[in-house]
Amino acid sequence: MEDFVVLNNGVRMPRVGLGVYAIPVNQTKDAVLTALSLGYRHIDTAQLYKNEAEVGEAVRASGIPRKEIFVTTKLWGARDYEDAKRSIARSQRALGIGVIDLLLIHWPGEDNLGVYKALEEAYQAGDVRAIGISNFVENLFPSFIKQVDVVPAVDQVEAHVFCQQKGLRKMMAEAGVVPEAWSPLGSGEHKIFGNPVLESIAKKHQKSVAQVALRFLVQSGFVIIPRTTKAKHMQENLDVLTFTLDPDDMKRIESLNNAKSLFGWW
Ligand code: NAD
Repeated sequence: MEDFVVLNNGVRMPRVGLGVYAIPVNQTKDAVLTALSLGYRHIDTAQLYKNEAEVGEAVRASGIPRKEIFVTTKLWGARDYEDAKRSIARSQRALGIGVIDLLLIHWPGEDNLGVYKALEEAYQAGDVRAIGISNFVENLFPSFIKQVDVVPAVDQVEAHVFCQQKGLRKMMAEAGVVPEAWSPLGSGEHKIFGNPVLESIAKKHQKSVAQVALRFLVQSGFVIIPRTTKAKHMQENLDVLTFTLDPDDMKRIESLNNAKSLFGWW
């Protein structure tokens, strides 16, 4: 399996990234530098996480050519087109890395089309390499993509072994939108680690439960952005690209799906 997916505009996006939600501001630069030193080339931040500046600092300090690192950020709470334009400018300033690789609307709001228009303009102006959405699920996704000029490259949604997003994924595949999984480990608090099915599959492959849970997503077509500040876990999570689950393992994990958000979103 290639270690990247090709987005609908030809841009390559690494399949595994580091999510930096809830990593304290004073630990973010170190976490990102550690990840980059281990071979990560994809970082997922957001205005909401308040650590865009530290992500940018790490990217600049890493010595790795800027174009080799894929950085995603997300606009939070933009009300309309004008507000979104100002919001994009704030993220550009905070990150300080020039062109943003992927810019998402973090959460649907009142004026998604107006906000997205500002993303389309930033894309057309070459300020961002790709644009997309996050948390647009079955109730919004089909109508939204019909009304926009630039089909989103990505829809980032909650996805893990208990919430596999099968219906939405089908819609995304038909529209050429790459599915990206947030909380791919259920944010660490939700029974993935003690699950007997995952434990038995992990034992069989001599991998960790986290690796099995993540590999399932990657093998199902998702880009994943697990969060950790520990180098050992970063390495484990990146290594999911190097083993394969059997069709039977995949079926057993598919049976864990209850299609519900762990956080009560849908
Ligand atoms: P996650 O599902 O990645 O789980 C993180 C937890 O798993 C942490 O407690 C971590 O210590 C633990 N962990 C990580 N790797 C491990 C390993 N190999 N072994 C054992 N434990 C391990 O949690 P998350 O932060 O909720 O989601 C990941 C990323 O998704 C976020 O950081 C953020 O970038 C993104 N996100 C986006 C949205 C959105 O609305 N778009 C919402 C939530 C999260």
